[in-house]
Parts: sequence; C-alpha cells; structure tokens
Amino acid sequence: MLAPRSLGGHFFCLRYTGDMDFALTQEHELIREMAYKFGQNEVLPGLAERDREHKSDASMLEKMAEGGIMGMSIPAKYGGSDTDYISLGIACEELERADSTARVVMSVHSGLHSLTLLQWGTEEQKQRWLPDLAKGNRWGGFGLTEPNAGSDAANLRTTATKDGDSYILNGEKTWISLADYAHQFLVITRLTNTDAKAPYAAFIVDRNTPGFSSKAIKGKLGVRAGNTGQIFFENMRVPAENMLGMEGDGFKVAMSALDHGRYTVASGAVGIITACLDACTKYANERSVGGEVIGKKQLVQQMIASMVKGREIGRLLYYKVGWMKNTGQRHTKECSMAKWVNCEAAFDAANKAVEIHGAYGYCDEFPVERYFRNSRGAMIYEGTHEIHTIMQAEYELGYRADKPISRVLPTWPVE
Ligand SMILES: Cc1cc2nc3c(=O)[nH]c(=O)nc-3n(C[C@H](O)[C@H](O)[C@H](O)COP(=O)(O)OP(=O)(O)OC[C@H]3O[C@@H](n4cnc5c(N)ncnc54)[C@H](O)[C@@H]3O)c2cc1C
Repeated sequence: MLAPRSLGGHFFCLRYTGDMDFALTQEHELIREMAYKFGQNEVLPGLAERDREHKSDASMLEKMAEGGIMGMSIPAKYGGSDTDYISLGIACEELERADSTARVVMSVHSGLHSLTLLQWGTEEQKQRWLPDLAKGNRWGGFGLTEPNAGSDAANLRTTATKDGDSYILNGEKTWISLADYAHQFLVITRLTNTDAKAPYAAFIVDRNTPGFSSKAIKGKLGVRAGNTGQIFFENMRVPAENMLGMEGDGFKVAMSALDHGRYTVASGAVGIITACLDACTKYANERSVGGEVIGKKQLVQQMIASMVKGREIGRLLYYKVGWMKNTGQRHTKECSMAKWVNCEAAFDAANKAVEIHGAYGYCDEFPVERYFRNSRGAMIYEGTHEIHTIMQAEYELGYRADKPISRVLPTWPVE
C-alpha cells in the first residue's frame, strides 16, 4: 500500500500488484465517481447549446484544472496527482460519458503531451514544464498531422533548420485539438540539416514565440463544443533545449505519444457506450409502442445487449493496456487493438442508440445524435479504422514487431 494521494479533494491509497489483476481498487472506484460527478456537474451544463452553436470556450479547461484532473498519472514530484494509468483510463471513460470534448482535453493535454514529456524529457525539461501542466496552469497540445500527412506520418513537410543554439521552424499542422487554447505544443518536424540516422525531431514550442499563429477549423461534424484548428510556424525560433530526445528521435517520440493518446481514446470510447446505455435504457422503459414499452421488444433488447457487450469488452481491453503501462511494458499492439475495437463499438452503440430513439434520435432534443457524431471522429483520429486494421494484420502475419523502447514511463508505484 502506498501513501495517500490527493486528487480533486479526495485522498487515495493506490495498491499495486505486478500480476494482471482486473479487480479495481476502492481508489479506482472513487476516481470513477469523482470523474463521473465532474462530467455531469461541470461538463454537461450548457454543453448541448455550445455543441449546437459550434462554440468552444476555455472555461471547461479551467474547471478541469481546478478539479485537479489535468495532472493525472504525473508523479507527485512533478506536481501531479500521482494516480496510476488505469485511473487515467477510468477518468477518460467517465468524462467522455458526459461529452467527448472533455476527454479530448485529456487525450491531448495528459496523454499526447504530458505523458510523452514525462517519458522522453530530461530531468531539467520535466522540472521546467510538468508542474505547470499537471496543475493545469498551462495546457498542452500535439502537432503531428499536416495537410499532406495524416496516416502517412513519415511524409511530414514542416521543417526545423539548426541555427546556432536554436532551430528555425517553418510549416503548418492541421486538425490540431486545442489549437487556439494550448499554451504549448509537442510538435514533430523534419530536420533539414542533420547527420542523424532518422530525419525527424520533436520540440516543445510555446505559442507566444514570434512566428506562431493558429486558426480554428469551422463546420465540424462532431466535437463541436471543442476547439480544433491549424497551427502555423513562420521562421519560428525554438531553443535547442526544447527538443525532446535527440535529433532523429522525432518519429519514436510521436509513436510513444500515440501509445498514450490512443489509450485515452480507447477508454473514453467506453464512456460513449455507457452514455448510450444511460439514454437508451431510460427511453426504452418510457416509450410505448403497441401497448408495451419498447424495452420489451426483443430486437430492441438485442441492441441493448450488443452495447453491453461492447462496454464489457472495451473495459477489459483498456484495463489490460493500463496494466501494461503500470508495469512498464511496451503496449503499442495492445493499445492499437483497444483503440480500434472500442471506437468501432462506440460508433456501433451510438448508431443503435439513434435507432432505439426512432425519429427523436435524429434531432438534438436527445443526446444520442451527439454521441453518433462524436464517436465517428474517434474512428479517424489517432489512427483511422484502416490503419489499425493494417497494424493488427501485420502483427499477426509477422510483418510488424515492436522492439522494447529505450525510454519507458515511470511504472506504478513510482520508485
Ligand atoms: C476531431 C479531430 C481532432 C484531431 N486532433 C489532432 C491533434 O490534436 N493532433 C494531430 O496531430 N492530429 C489530430 N487529428 C488528425 C488525425 O490524427 C488525422 O485526421 C488522422 O490521422 C487521419 O489523417 P487524414 O485525415 O490526413 O486522412 P488520410 O491519411 O488522408 O486518410 C484518408 C483515408 O485513406 C485511408 N488510408 C490512409 N492510408 C491508408 C493505407 N495505407 N491503407 C489503406 N487505407 C489508408 C484512411 O484510413 C482514410 O480512410 C485530429 C482529427 C480530428 C478529426
């Protein structure tokens, strides 16, 4: 048993075992309750209107910072809440049960940005950035995708050119979550003048650097209450000390980041399924057709049962990845599987939820049409449906294998 830790005003004692153990601790359940209440009380009020009006605002991020949620899985020595990775997954699940916008913040700020910094940063870099990120004083984003490079991440055109003790960045990134809000971004670039074996580098860039600008993307299908946009670098000078890893490590840093981001997407997807079940069990017990509630109709029950199946399988898949993270094992394959299966199950559940609501599922009087739109996005970002299909086939066929990586996250408990 470890010493108690504080998160959102609650105190936890995290128990750790090296064996795979699917039993959640009492502390995990407390985190679930805390994240559920936060989602219902702080995320949901006014959300439907903001979603309808495509209106993002920073107040949700401020509330998440106040609630102590933004430092999850960051060790206490860096100002974090010192919770294990399964706790992070549970929080993502319960936040996305309210709305995908809150989980997206966790994915980019906690997963893609902070955990990658924790994994790859020097001690000086961690001391410099993590405490403010963990407290939510600063928000982190992640810039990999470019107009001509989404799935094809080996085709980046944003350049970093070494100039004395700095690098000059030029280019643009698109579809970047929190583009207008994040204080800093983890950005992957191509090096122009390098002797390194690989051409990429990763930098932490501050949005207040001259040459940086951003622009929101309008007219999205989903995550409408969240901010997504483009970020631009025009002769932007970034100090060499902001590089994560060495010259040539950029691609590995990006792939590590995806291991963390995909974990939060996979766990969040389970929250969408639960939200669909919340809405559908209520509706099916109220709506009568032919003199009986539709919950008594076998074909409706079949859809409910299918959602329950998706939720249970989804939890097992992400708990396993959380356990692998806790024990310091490479989990790229398992994380890809969890992200792929859970996002498909969430979209399928949302589709069924619309069906169960009939015409009422086709308008925003009920939340299920939002789940339908939001769950579609998760099948695109952090690796499309096709990319994960290919990855799983290649692992099985022996065309792809993961080597142990040199930089691992702290295992839990933190030594
Ligand atoms: C809401 C949202 C938020 C996002 N947030 C971020 C963020 O914060 N940071 C960031 O860096 N990116 C972000 N993205 C971008 C996202 O990661 C990319 O959109 C995604 O990787 C897909 O790239 P693309 O859109 O360029 O599609 P493309 O790569 O052009 O793919 C188009 C189609 O071709 C298919 N395809 C591609 N390659 C193959 C292949 N080899 N075999 C078979 N089919 C293939 C794809 O599956 C897809 O169906 C976000 C996207 C969205 C929608």
